[in-house]
Amino acid sequence: MRKPYMRIPYTDVLAAPTIIPKTAATVSGALAALQEFLTVPSSSGSRPSTAVLTGAGISVASGLADYRGNKGTYRVNKTYRPIYYHEFLGNHEARKRYWARSFLGWTTLHKAKPNATHFAIKQLGDLGLVQSVITQNVDSFHSKAHPNLPTIELHGYLRSCVCTSCNEELPRDAFQDELARLNPAWAIFLQEVLATGALDTENPDERRARGMKTNPDGDVDIPGAPYTTFRYPACPKCLAHPPTMGDGTSATVEVDSDGAWAANSTAGILKPAVVMFGESIREPIKKAAETAIDDADRLLVLGTSLATYSAWRLAKQAQSQNKPIGIVNLGGVRGEDAFFVDLDPSQTGARGARVEMSTDELLPALVEKVRRSPTAAAAHETSGHAIEQHGAVVFKDLLS
Ligand SMILES: [Zn+2]
Repeated sequence: MRKPYMRIPYTDVLAAPTIIPKTAATVSGALAALQEFLTVPSSSGSRPSTAVLTGAGISVASGLADYRGNKGTYRVNKTYRPIYYHEFLGNHEARKRYWARSFLGWTTLHKAKPNATHFAIKQLGDLGLVQSVITQNVDSFHSKAHPNLPTIELHGYLRSCVCTSCNEELPRDAFQDELARLNPAWAIFLQEVLATGALDTENPDERRARGMKTNPDGDVDIPGAPYTTFRYPACPKCLAHPPTMGDGTSATVEVDSDGAWAANSTAGILKPAVVMFGESIREPIKKAAETAIDDADRLLVLGTSLATYSAWRLAKQAQSQNKPIGIVNLGGVRGEDAFFVDLDPSQTGARGARVEMSTDELLPALVEKVRRSPTAAAAHETSGHAIEQHGAVVFKDLLS
C-alpha cells in the first residue's frame, strides 16, 4: 500500500546506534570521518555536493525542546498532545485552545535565535561543501542563519499564518498583535507569566512555583479567561470577499463586533503555515525535497531521528540511489541499520558515517578542521559571525 506523504508522529522506542566507522566514537575520530564524508570526491571525480537534512535536535541549543530524549524515547513531557489537522479544521473549540497556547508560546520563540549548528551549516555552504538544506523544523532558523544557502522547509514555518480557504499568508507577528487585541485578559496574563519566568521552565512544579497555575493535564489555568473565551481573527481577504464553495455558493465569513471569527462562518479560518500532524505535505515542497536529494552526491542527516515518514523517505531515496549517508544524532534513528547495511567495514567515512554527538559542538569543530585542510580550498569563504546565546526554553506543545 502506498503510504501518504503525511506528517505523523512516530512514538516507538528507537534502538541505540552502531557508530560508523568505529573510530567515530571519539570527537577526533568523528571529525575525521565527517571530513572524509564531506570532502572525498564523488565516484565521477567531481567536487562532492551534499544535501543536509535537519530536525528538532539541532534547535535544542536555541532553547527549543526536542521531541525525543537522548535515549531515543518519545517526549518525556506526558502532557504533550499535538493537535491534528482534521481537529484544527473541524473544531472551533480546538482552534481556541490551539491559538491560546500558541499565543503564550510565540513571544519566546520569537526571541530565540539560530545556534552554532545553523551557522556551521552556513559555513559548510560557503566552503562549497553543502548545496541544499531540507529541514523538518518550523522555526525558520536556517533561513535566518544562511539566507543564501537554499532551505526547503518540509513541514512549513511558524513565521506566517495561512488561510485554509484562500491560501493567503499573514505574518505571525501581526497575527499575534491581533490575538492580543481580541484577548486583553490573556495579553495581561502573558505579560505576567513572562515576568515570572514561568515559561522558562518545562517542569510543571517549577511553573506553579513561579506563579503559573496548571491543571493536572498541563493546561494553563486562568480564572475568568478559559480557552472557551479565546478569540482569533478571520482571514481579512475572505472577510472582504467570501470565497466560493465547492457547490458554487458563496461561503459565510462573519466576525463579531471586534473582528473575531464567528462560529457560524464556513470559511476564512487561519492556521499556522506549518504542516500539522495528519496533514499532507504540499506537492511542490515534496518535489523540491526529492530533487535536492537527486541533485546531491550524498546526504548528511543532522539532529533528527527521522521519526516522520516524510523525512525518513528522503533518506531512503538517497540510499536507493546508492548515495553515502552520514548521520549525526543523539539517540537512535528510525531504520538506520538499513542505511548502512551494505557498507564495507573497512571504509573510514567516505561511504557512510554514524556519529552520536551533539551537532552544536561537533559542527563548528568540523568547519575548523575542513578549513585547515590543504585539500579543501574555500570556494566563497566569507567572514565568521558571533554566536549569540539564548537561554529561553520554547515548548513544542505550545508551538507545534
Ligand atoms: Zn482567506
